[in-house]
This record gives sequence, C-alpha cells and structure tokens, in this order.
Amino acid sequence: SDRVETLEFQAEARQLLQLMVHSIYSNKDVFLRELISNASDALDKLRLTSLVDKDLSVDASDLHIEIEVDRDARTLTVRDNGIGMSRDEVVGLIGTIAKSGTAELLRTLRESKDAAADQDLIGQFGVGFYATFMVADRVTLLTRRAGETGGTRWESSGEGTYSVEAVDEAPQGTSVTLHLKPVDADDNLHDYTAERTIREIVKRYSDFIAWPIRMSVDVPGEDGAATREVQTLNSMKALWARSRDEVDEAEYKEFYRHVAHDWADPLETIHMRGEGTFEYEALLFLPSHAPLDLFAPQGRRGVQLYVKRVFIMDDCEALIPNYLRFVKGVVDAHDLSLNISREILQQDRQIRAVRRRLVKKVLGTLKDMSAESYRTFWTEFGPVVKEGLLEDPDNTEALLDLVRAASTHDPAEPTTLRAYVERMKDGQTEIYYATGENRATIENSPHLEAFRAKGYEVLILTDPVDEVWVERVGAYDGRTLRSVAKGQVDLETEEEKEKAEAERQEYADLLTFLGGALTDSVKEVRLSTRLTTSPACVVGDAHDMTPTLEKMYRAMGQ
Ligand code: ADP
Ligand code: MG
Repeated sequence: SDRVETLEFQAEARQLLQLMVHSIYSNKDVFLRELISNASDALDKLRLTSLVDKDLSVDASDLHIEIEVDRDARTLTVRDNGIGMSRDEVVGLIGTIAKSGTAELLRTLRESKDAAADQDLIGQFGVGFYATFMVADRVTLLTRRAGETGGTRWESSGEGTYSVEAVDEAPQGTSVTLHLKPVDADDNLHDYTAERTIREIVKRYSDFIAWPIRMSVDVPGEDGAATREVQTLNSMKALWARSRDEVDEAEYKEFYRHVAHDWADPLETIHMRGEGTFEYEALLFLPSHAPLDLFAPQGRRGVQLYVKRVFIMDDCEALIPNYLRFVKGVVDAHDLSLNISREILQQDRQIRAVRRRLVKKVLGTLKDMSAESYRTFWTEFGPVVKEGLLEDPDNTEALLDLVRAASTHDPAEPTTLRAYVERMKDGQTEIYYATGENRATIENSPHLEAFRAKGYEVLILTDPVDEVWVERVGAYDGRTLRSVAKGQVDLETEEEKEKAEAERQEYADLLTFLGGALTDSVKEVRLSTRLTTSPACVVGDAHDMTPTLEKMYRAMGQ
C-alpha cells in the first residue's frame, strides 16, 4: 500500500549492520539480552511516565516482557507493553546510530587485521538492537507509542534498507520478531526456538531485570500429557537492594554489562548502602577499559538514578562529578520525589551529600586497589582522574595520592608523588617536572641537563591536562611543583653562585650584545648554569606559559 515507505539506513548504521549480518562477533546469544534490555528500558520509561503524568492515558498495569517462539515458522518474538515508539522515533532510533564513537569504532575495525581485537572492540561498543541480525535474516518490529492511537510496523533484512508502515491497530509497546537463520548456518548459532536455550540465556544474562520475563512452556500434566503454562523465567531481584553476601560474582558481572553496555568484565565493584536520614543503595563499577567517547564533548556519565526501584534517569550528573564520568552503575535513593528534575537534583542537599559519599568511596576504592588493577586503571583513566585536580578542590589530597607519573628515576615504572618526595636529595626542596608531548622530546630537551647533572629526579608529564593541574595545585606535601622550563631554577650552592656572578661580569658585554641582537625574539639573555652540554636554551619566565600550554591555547585559537 502507499503507507509503506522504504528508507535507507544511515551510512554508519549500514556498516555496523554489515558486521552483524556477517557475524563477526562469536557470542550470538547476547542478542536476546539486548532485546530484553531494551524492553526493560521501555517499561521503566512507561512506569515513570504514568507516575509523573497522571492524565496520560497509558496502561501501566501488568508491565512485563514476553518471549514467544514458533518452532514451525522458526520465529522468536520479544514483546513488551512499555513506552513504545512513534513512527519518527522508529526511524530516528532504529535507522540511525546516535552513539558517539561509532565512526571511530568503524574506522578502527576497517583498519584492523586482528580478529580477536575486533571482537573486543565490538563487545565494548555494544551493538544493541542490531545484534538481532547475528541470528535472524529478517526482523520485524511492531510498536505503538503509549498514549498514541496508530502504530508502526518496521521490517528489514539488515541489508541496506528497511520499510516502515503505519498501522491502525497495535498493542501498546513493542514486539520484535526474529525470523531465525537456519541453525546450521553458523557454528555459534544455538536453536533459539528451544525452551531450554531461552531459559538458560535469560537466567544467565537477564535474571536481575526488574520486570517479569514470561514464556509459555509445556509442563507435564497429571495424566502425563503436556499442558501449557506461563512461567516467569527471571528472579527479578534488584541486585543493589540485596546484601553483598547474597550476590555472587557472576551476577555482578551480568548486571554491569546491563548498566554499562559493556561486554567486558568490570575492574572493580562497589556495593554500598547509606542509612540514617537519607537512605540509598549504590552499586557502582569501574570499567576495565576506557570507552571510545571518554573525551567526547557531550560525553555522558554512567550513573543511573532510581527512586525506590523506579528508574528515574540515565546519566545523572548530580550524583557523580565529571572527572569520574567513567564510573557506571545505579544509585537508588529512597526519599526523593519521582517528579524530580535534573535542575532540582543539582540543588538538593541530600543528593549532594550522597555525591560526596560516592566520590569518597570511589577514591578510597582506587587507593586500595591491587597494584596490577590500578596500573590498568591508571592507563585507561588517569588523564580523566587528573581533571579532578581542577574540578574538585575538596579532594585534592586524595587525588594527588592517586597520581602516577613517569619520571627520570625509573623509565619503566611510573612513580607516586609520595615516592618522589621520599627519594628527594638532601638540599632539594622542590618537586621538578617537565611537560611536553612525549617522553622522548622531554628527555632530549636541554632543560633537563642541569637536573640530570645534579642527580635530581624530574617528573615527565605528557597529558594535556598535566600543564593545568600542576599550575593549579602548586605544591605537594608542602613542596612546590616546579617546571624545569620556567624561570631561574635555583640549583646552585653558594660557591657556585659566586662563580656565576664572576662569570656574569666577565661576559657582560657579550650578553648585552646578544640581548640587542635578539631583542625582537627574547626578553632577556642571561648566563645559565643549567646547561652542561647544550650551548644555549630558551626558557620561559616563571609566570609565562610553558611551551605546551602555549601550543594548546594557540590550537584553541587564543
Ligand atoms: P541502546 O539501547 O544502547 O540505546 P539499541 O540499539 O539497543 O541501543 O536501541 C536503540 C534505541 O531504540 C533505544 O535507545 C530505544 O530508544 C529504542 N528502542 C529499542 N527497543 C525498544 C523497545 N522495545 N521499546 C521502546 N524503544 C526501544
Ligand atoms: Mg539497547
């Protein structure tokens, strides 16, 4: 009919689909988890909508997820009676990928020759709805947005196009029907029409989903003949509300995958509970690798807010500071209104108290991590954590103790500031650092010579944020952080100073001449004791910007 439109997938979506259709990811079972996770999100949203807007005519009774198989037709359907999608939402959400990092992911995959690494990457990215095309050669979606009258039917074989059609009648919510590939199409395909397979996958990946996942199954009747019975496949227990010894490692991991959309295991799990005037439960995770969009301008934070088991919002910036944006998980606060807005949350005194507690707990966890885990953590997230030295003055001390920096002491092993201070030489009063784009450039710079000659250790800082935090923080443990590239570093003994003064007299004429000749390029020419092998070097004033910072500002057009 003329109500059917054929549309093209957005270019990036098409490429990602290609990967799915050609099955480069070996764990196909996860498609079901992705569908259930979407259904669960849709139910969360519907419940919230119905609680907040009492006038909206939506049916929020008996919210659930249903799985149905048809062995003869070889189809599997996952149905929810949640929020559903309008036609435009179907096109916008299913036909395109809004996720930041997609382009980068695709580029990396295109250039890569390492299949195992590709699996990892895809796993980290999380493929969502498109995972269905790993197991199905055609997918049909029927949906109706809660509160609207007409529905939308979407269908695609994952090739380049999909069809959308307006339909008069559709139940509230969404049902996704997979026309399954033949089982022998691929070694990794299980028979997804088999009840046992479905049961196992649901139990393994989706047991904690807070909504019932139902399936009609055969059970032996009294006379031996099978009868049909609807069973709930998951236990539905909100993991964060259980006590720690009731939850096993595997459950934490699965839950992490659900909230973080990450197929790898978390590095660390933090399960905490706040009692007293303001009750809350928090289940937070530290990922084992940085997401592709860690530095994206509108990068999101990974903490969801619930109020007494009701999902309120994703990406709750009121609960976690920007520099801990990689932390994933759930906070369930008991005494908040369901109507609460982001703006009000920011002002809420209790939420601010919870945020302080979460930050302390995360920083404490980082401090207590095993050396090996912490090394992984710092490699992935160190540059972000250092942003905390600019954003969070209340925790400067704790953050400084988390910092690891390369140093001239041991090229292979980053140092803590504490260890640097313990190694400081007699007579050394300041902590020296050099900033630059990379280690090699810094080590070859003439600025380091005098320090090397004296046997003074220098920290080698190569992250863009380093320039800024050392300036802001200024000192550690009462010792000034001093750039080797700035001002006159006082490395001289009294005797050396006298000698230098004599030399200055002796070379006064030359210095005046050079100063005149270079008047447009430098402020002053002076005799230095900091060089041992290079004849001359350019240094900044104590209050000048360091070269890296200057470059950074110039790049920003300032
Ligand atoms: P993600 O869940 O990470 O956003 P998906 O590819 O799984 O990515 O889904 C894309 C979007 O499509 C979802 O964010 C959601 O808005 C919409 N969507 C998918 N499934 C459903 C559903 N069952 N009900 C309502 N919306 C859905
Ligand atoms: Mg999803």
